[in-house]
Amino acid sequence: MNSTNVKAFGTTAPEADLKQLNIIRRDVTAKDVEIEILFCGVCHSDLHTARNEWGGTIYPNVPGHEIVGRILKVGSGVSKFKIGDLAGVGCLVDSCRECESCKEGLEQFCEKGNTQTYNGHEKQLNQQTFGGYSERVVVNEDFVLRIPKELDLAATAPLLCAGITTYSPLRHWNVGPGTKVGIVGIGGLGHMGVKIAKAMGAYVVVITTSAAKVTDAKRLGADEVILSKDAEQMKKNSGTLHFILDCVSAQHDINAYIKLLKRDGALALVGAPELPLPVAAFSLISGRKSFAGSLIGGIKETQEMLDFCGEHHITSDIEMINMQDINLAYDRLLKGDVKYRFVIDMASLKK
Ligand code: NAP
Ligand code: ZN
Ligand code: ZN
Repeated sequence: MNSTNVKAFGTTAPEADLKQLNIIRRDVTAKDVEIEILFCGVCHSDLHTARNEWGGTIYPNVPGHEIVGRILKVGSGVSKFKIGDLAGVGCLVDSCRECESCKEGLEQFCEKGNTQTYNGHEKQLNQQTFGGYSERVVVNEDFVLRIPKELDLAATAPLLCAGITTYSPLRHWNVGPGTKVGIVGIGGLGHMGVKIAKAMGAYVVVITTSAAKVTDAKRLGADEVILSKDAEQMKKNSGTLHFILDCVSAQHDINAYIKLLKRDGALALVGAPELPLPVAAFSLISGRKSFAGSLIGGIKETQEMLDFCGEHHITSDIEMINMQDINLAYDRLLKGDVKYRFVIDMASLKK
């Protein structure tokens, strides 16, 4: 298969910094589009993967799965896009399309294993997939999203992961008017969760470790804020929430948050710390509570989320960086020092 070299930024070992390298992209086949990447969000999963915190990272690794850009080329059988259109790519670039999950539009749970945007396996070139910290990407049109024209493009990039990862569980657990929902961890995912849950009509309670985010959480749309380090505030709010979305990237005591649920409430994890989170039996059995999880969202639901965000004028609060600043950005991400998503201006890679 024909292919071309493109510039990218990635890493060759868990402890190594990210640096410029070259990767190979396939030429478009009949159903592919080639996208010039304009902006790419920086998800905490990029950092977990680059540093092999979950195990299984294949090196060199080029992260990035919050991709927005413009279509440069279309294959002969492409029907959804034309050259010049805006387009988005999230965490998935392929799946089997035949299993029960794929048929239900839940490609994230493909029973034969989907192809992730980076650190997956690209059949066409028989190599690992490389993500959005790069000039261009080639993706089958079925896994490419339409971007609402009314939204700022750079601030839309984080919707491709942080947006869908919070939208999908909020929908699945029927969050809406009459629901009191808690969002734990106000980073890239959490701040999108607040905005989306509010737009769905829920009463939104932010639960944060950061005193500095209390006022800001209200600006994002929170009705109430609980500072989780304050035992009194946690006690006062015990048994008050129908549903909690946990967006925390590091170890934390899950039992303390389950206490905030009402009877029959559920806490769903989207945050993915590297080590197990112990749950006490009595946290769940007293109150018939559920401890659950959720993984991004399927392609159809990702488009639904983008259209919902277009309609409600929802984008991410971003800090734009140059590609060359990515190592500093990872250090700041670990300290919770970003409001609320770094987005890379990919034009900087051309310099
Ligand atoms: P992020 O921007 O770094 O935000 C994480 C937030 O967690 C921080 O802002 C902080 O919020 C809170 N936090 C950090 N350390 C904590 C601790 N020790 N105890 C309690 N809270 C703490 O990360 P992100 O990009 O939103 O990603 C969050 C997690 O979701 C990551 O693990 C990521 O890999 C995972 N993820 C999962 C999926 C999925 O499909 N399930 C998709 C994307 C990402 P406060 O300052 O408010 O406390
Ligand atoms: Zn992500
Ligand atoms: Zn499948």
